[in-house]
Amino acid sequence: MRIDVLTLFPEFIDAAAAVGVIGRAQQRGLLAVRAWNPRDHTHDNYRRIDERPFGGGPGMVMSNQPLRDCLAAMRAAASEPAHTIYVTPQGARLTQRRVRELAALPRLILVCGRYEGIDERLIAAEIDEELSIGDYVLSGGELAAAVVIDAVGRLQDGALNDADSAAQDSFENGLLDCPHYTRPDEFEGESVPPVLLSGDHAAIARWRRQQSLGRTWLRRPDLLARMTLSKADRVLLDG
Ligand code: SAM
Repeated sequence: MRIDVLTLFPEFIDAAAAVGVIGRAQQRGLLAVRAWNPRDHTHDNYRRIDERPFGGGPGMVMSNQPLRDCLAAMRAAASEPAHTIYVTPQGARLTQRRVRELAALPRLILVCGRYEGIDERLIAAEIDEELSIGDYVLSGGELAAAVVIDAVGRLQDGALNDADSAAQDSFENGLLDCPHYTRPDEFEGESVPPVLLSGDHAAIARWRRQQSLGRTWLRRPDLLARMTLSKADRVLLDG
């Protein structure tokens, strides 16, 4: 998969995409992330990217021409069709379901705003989807783009050392993940739940499912309300 990012801070995206699972996915050739600076497409000596908003008021707006020219250069850099996303607090909230769908596409273009955002005509002409990472306002889209890159990149085949680990993550089956423990089995007087040491795989699976159901009921009842629980799940939840 290829992800191209339009940003005034390419070094931010480069750094975020160089480490951990995403850095490794790039080294393995599973993912290619490239940052593009629209300042490289300005036509004036000051490389000016922002203008005052029509109608007055505070702040500046990222202007059309350098962003459009930058997007044209980005599109021309690879032959795969690109799905273009503007990260914005006004977009649909990013979910794991949408992440899975995006991870299956060959190419994304992410547009990071700064200041008051980008010219509305650019959104109408160039953007396929607007996505938000939550109901709060960041000073720029780079953190949001890094979130999309990480969430989508880790789902590329071969990116995670254990392919099964993503399947049991929170939201994948509608529930939150179960609690996890590791060695030693006793630490400062606190023990691991005995079932996890029992070697009884069916009992462990039942315990994990029950923990997931219970946690989701306590912490995210909205998720449970969207699910149709099986009879076995209802028994675990009541137990
Ligand atoms: N005036 C805009 C508004 O209220 O909708 C906010 C602009 S914000 C200061 C600058 C840029 O940060 C946005 O253009 C967007 O790219 C990014 N951004 C801020 N909050 C975000 C969020 N919750 N999700 C995704 N991107 C966000």
